[in-house]
Amino acid sequence: MIKIYNTQTHQKEKFQSVELGKIGMYVCGPTVYNYIHIGNARTFISFDVIRRYLEWRGFKVTFVQNVTDVDDKIINKAKEEGRTPAEVAAEYTKAFIDDMHKAGVKDPDIRPKATEEIPAMIELVEDLIKGGHAYEVEGDVYFSVRSFPEYGKLSGRNIDEMESGHRELRADGQGIEDRKRDPLDFAVWKAAKPGEPCWDSPWGKGRPGWHLECSAMSRKYLGLPFDIHGGGADLVFPHHENEVAQSEAACGCTFANYWIHGGMLQINSEKMSKSLGNFLLLRDVLERTRPEVLRFLMLQTHYRSPLDFSDERLAEAEAGLSRIENTVKNLQWAIENAQDIPSPLKTKPLMAQVKDTRNEFIVTMDDDFNTAGALGIIFGFVNDLNSQIAGKTVSITDVPVLRGAYAVLVELMSVFGIMLEGEEEEVQYPDAVVPLAKELAGYTGANPAQAVSVLLDCRTEARANKNWALADQVRDGMKELGLIIEDTPQGPRVSVE
Ligand code: AMP
Ligand code: ZN
Repeated sequence: MIKIYNTQTHQKEKFQSVELGKIGMYVCGPTVYNYIHIGNARTFISFDVIRRYLEWRGFKVTFVQNVTDVDDKIINKAKEEGRTPAEVAAEYTKAFIDDMHKAGVKDPDIRPKATEEIPAMIELVEDLIKGGHAYEVEGDVYFSVRSFPEYGKLSGRNIDEMESGHRELRADGQGIEDRKRDPLDFAVWKAAKPGEPCWDSPWGKGRPGWHLECSAMSRKYLGLPFDIHGGGADLVFPHHENEVAQSEAACGCTFANYWIHGGMLQINSEKMSKSLGNFLLLRDVLERTRPEVLRFLMLQTHYRSPLDFSDERLAEAEAGLSRIENTVKNLQWAIENAQDIPSPLKTKPLMAQVKDTRNEFIVTMDDDFNTAGALGIIFGFVNDLNSQIAGKTVSITDVPVLRGAYAVLVELMSVFGIMLEGEEEEVQYPDAVVPLAKELAGYTGANPAQAVSVLLDCRTEARANKNWALADQVRDGMKELGLIIEDTPQGPRVSVE
């Protein structure tokens, strides 16, 4: 049973998806006017791991992440550089996607750009006006905060104690405050200023407000209510509070069932900011660090806690990940060099440990994605394995259990987005072996190489238990997929026909 800490209710809740076996997930993307920093990367990596875990647990996840490609910051940068806002946005959108690929973050299923979704945004503003939740003033449209009595429920603020967070001046110098019916109201549509990007709308030329973008794009691609909405903790107020208000006011239903917010990344225990000179871009860190090591560092802290980044922690992460990688190499060596000798291992406890490690990993990650705890479990297993196999020649009878240990380490680390390369993964097995492993051996992952390994273990165990029918089912099922099992003195080997 998966439990998720929900910002809105301040407690861990049992997770239940709207549709059985499916999850709709929306995570706010970047405003593309600069390269992303490692704080942004922390949030995106946290949600990448959450998504990978939910997929590994068998959910079909639809992951939507927007790109905010029209915004004051983009317009200002374009002015400074004598370029168009579209040029600036295109450059940094590409840079963002490149950086995400370098960091091993999976692409979202849908990556809508604000500038390509204007009709959906206009439609939402129209719905709000029709419902009496928004009003127009000379081409601007404002959301009427007091028309939504539950305003403040996400961030736990009381509407009567709030001050307006929007003290902008218009081009004509008139304070926006003077134009709004209530200082708390915020813009959902902004009238065009000269020379700025704009689109036709029922209120004249203009562009959408930032908060509105996410409400419109999530509604369009996921439908309401959807399961999980995420972002960094700095977005809870006002961005997400405003998203809730607009979306729920317009549809009259719940917006998102679970709100997940990631903690902030700090550098040497200080806030990361340009003025403090401790501002690190993801691409610069990845010049000198393997992406797996950065990810490993991040996984050692729970996603909701503040994360302290420093060179010492990076070095510790390198050492920690190397320990796991070395164990995988040791396992490979032991498997390849097994001899026909009595086993020097405690094979029975090792077999139980392989299963326990996987089960404990699941229990720990089910508890609000406790990656730090799950890494602790993997470390416990790695320490035991090392003490048993390091520097030893093992028996050919140990090979199946060592293969199981290898498969479980590779599988669990891949859930974190860390691929431990090994020779075993070089062969390309057909995807159809995954459902076969699921049917015969209860495999829950999606990696064909691991599925083959799990099937081989299943057959070895079946033979040991004299369950010839199951052993034959495995061999015949694999043969149908062109995978031939050969029994060698080193254990079963698979060749692809
Ligand atoms: P932005 O482009 O500023 O909207 O940020 C994109 C994402 O990065 C949002 O989800 C922010 O919450 C997140 N973010 C910004 N700064 C940090 C930080 N220092 N640590 C963690 N996440 C951050
Ligand atoms: Zn958003």
